[in-house]
Amino acid sequence: MFENASLSMLDQLGEFGLIDRLTQKYSPGNKNLVQGIGDDSAIYVPGKDKLQVISTDLFIENVNFDLMYTPLKHLGYKVVVAGISDIYAMNAIPAYLTISMAISSKFSYEAIEELYSGVYLACEKYNIDLIGGDTGSSVKGLVLSVTVTGEVDPSKKVLRSGAEPNDLLCVSGDLGGAYMGLQLMEREKRVFMANPEMQPDLEGYDYIVGRQLKPEARKDVIELLDSLKILPTSMIDISDGLASEIMHLSNSSGVGFTIYEDKLPIDTQTISMASEFNLDATMCVLNGGEDYELLFTIHQKDFKAIENLMDISVIGHATENKKVCEIVTATGSTFQLKAQGWESQE
Ligand SMILES: [Mg+2]
Repeated sequence: MFENASLSMLDQLGEFGLIDRLTQKYSPGNKNLVQGIGDDSAIYVPGKDKLQVISTDLFIENVNFDLMYTPLKHLGYKVVVAGISDIYAMNAIPAYLTISMAISSKFSYEAIEELYSGVYLACEKYNIDLIGGDTGSSVKGLVLSVTVTGEVDPSKKVLRSGAEPNDLLCVSGDLGGAYMGLQLMEREKRVFMANPEMQPDLEGYDYIVGRQLKPEARKDVIELLDSLKILPTSMIDISDGLASEIMHLSNSSGVGFTIYEDKLPIDTQTISMASEFNLDATMCVLNGGEDYELLFTIHQKDFKAIENLMDISVIGHATENKKVCEIVTATGSTFQLKAQGWESQE
């Protein structure tokens, strides 16, 4: 798509020209920013009595994303969302972002500009400022490193380690959609590789394709819980699949969990795509990644406040059964969760 185009080539611009051009129209909005892009480091004033939060993620072409079906603007948006989601998972508010890129010679300036248009869109939507980054060349493909900072009131920070027996395990939104969207696009890619005349058939699956290509971070859930005066006892974002995230909470908190298959929130498009692929939708929820929903525990006393919320599901509870995580299936059998799916106890 961007290859071999007669566009301004990156090597003519050099590192400094590239960052200058990418950021020339950008003006950060945070009033606490003293110095943004344009010096050796950025400088900002931390909020009074706030804890500073920082998280970093790495994205490698053909390992973490595939440009055959990921538009560059979507990729730019998604890597920022993935970074922000980790900040929300601490119950913190994201503030600043840096992005570093290693770029191979197949990319034009215009391609990188397209990537940055997605980055800027996410910055605007989530009210954060891009304050720096670095660029270099790679032998093959694109590598992105994204670092996000944020702030939290010390009394409101939420770690993975605070869950106690009998706390309720909750999840926002629905699960498995991003994974099924990925399966669908991988299938259409195989069809296209075999016969480039074929057009992709994504009809009727806009929701799961969107879940994969343009996920959102759950800023709204953090704000909702705050407005209800609910402080989760533990929290994590779901980037690698429900089973492994439950096990992270379990290991950090020293508790077990029991979840119920019939309580798992799954969209109808996820269910019908799973059945097209002869996959079990529950397995897709447990093992599929990239939903960027929040998984958290709350005290039982907070149940009434969230009971009728459409966007939050109680899927189980913490137990004293240290580090044992189980799923009770719709038919009443109990299986132990593994990082990938479940394993029969019989
Ligand atoms: Mg995370």
